[in-house]
Amino acid sequence: MNFNSIIVRYGEISLKGKNRIRFELSLKNSLERFLRDQHLQFSDILLKKGRIYIKGISTLPQLDKVLGVYSYSPALEMEKKLSVLKKEALKALPEIKNANSFRVSCQRIDKGFQYNSMEVEKIIGEILLSGSRTPVNLEHPDREYGVEIGEDCIYAFFDKIKGFGGFPYGISGKLVSLISSGIDSPVSTFLMMKRGVEPVLLHFKISESDVGKLFKLKEKLEEFSSGKAIKLHIIDRNDLFKGRFRELFGDQKFHSYICILCKFLMHRKAGEIAREEKAWGLITGDNLAQVASQTLKNLYVYQTASRLPVYSPLIGFEKQETIDLARKIGTYDISILKSQGCTPPAAPKTGVSISVFKKILAESGLE
Ligand code: ATP
Ligand code: MG
Repeated sequence: MNFNSIIVRYGEISLKGKNRIRFELSLKNSLERFLRDQHLQFSDILLKKGRIYIKGISTLPQLDKVLGVYSYSPALEMEKKLSVLKKEALKALPEIKNANSFRVSCQRIDKGFQYNSMEVEKIIGEILLSGSRTPVNLEHPDREYGVEIGEDCIYAFFDKIKGFGGFPYGISGKLVSLISSGIDSPVSTFLMMKRGVEPVLLHFKISESDVGKLFKLKEKLEEFSSGKAIKLHIIDRNDLFKGRFRELFGDQKFHSYICILCKFLMHRKAGEIAREEKAWGLITGDNLAQVASQTLKNLYVYQTASRLPVYSPLIGFEKQETIDLARKIGTYDISILKSQGCTPPAAPKTGVSISVFKKILAESGLE
């Protein structure tokens, strides 16, 4: 079907009570920024009764990249007359003929329209049925001809493309996201972005070869930030250790504590950066028990380091769920590129008490 406009639907935003208008305007701004960033021409963008309409557009943008969008439909906007709708419906016959079954679904936003939804469905359904001989299936149609009676015009469409839902980018505020070059942390960053967070990325560099990957991950995440740049800080991990990483790694006393020390120092530094950036807390890709050092005891130790809230949205995920999401958002292929990474000790401490840890920290000279 030809289209000249796009209907954008949003889910949870419409539940937001008095705050609703703030969320709606933010989503509208996000959509506008996204379209301009993609150099896509459109004539207008309107916010009306639980929907956003993009008018005068001829290229289909990937609006599933705009967070807060629940679904969208490329639609044909027409004059608000049943006679016009009947004529336009005939043009949809080739697509209906190709389908195994169909139904017409009408939604009347303008309750004053002279025909109600069921009447419109019946009238248009009969036209499509007699012209195509394709059976009607109300329960599980192969094709659905959607009609929306808006306040000023009628829209007809076939496809409802799903978005990620959530909230518009940045509306919740800022968090510092600890991002490694692995699979998990880009996904945890994305999940918080989906709740309206603007992330400031922070990477502790272990090898120079990871830097390229980090910029690629940043670019991938920027596909979801509606044309806004995402900041990336890169700090040498060796600087966290005051240049003494190798020395401590090689020292029998500190060797098995190196992971927990490293995480603690990362979180402490991240806290400093969060304060500079005026961010409300941290994001990590931590996942309970995924690696030997991700125990409740260890998490307890290093999550105290920043004295800020730490959000770890993957904490209860199965690895496969994270991988599936990483594939869906496009970070997976970047994350699995060859990486130097870190070489943990053969047997890192899996459960350090805070008192033992404090002693080790003091003795390391890194306190
Ligand atoms: P990922 O796949 O994100 O690397 P992981 O399963 O390998 O996670 P860890 O290496 O134990 O888990 O790291 C847990 C979390 O600590 C990461 O998800 C990330 O938020 C943070 N982190 C780990 N390494 C770094 C790093 N070099 N720079 C910044 N943050 C890091
Ligand atoms: Mg890692």
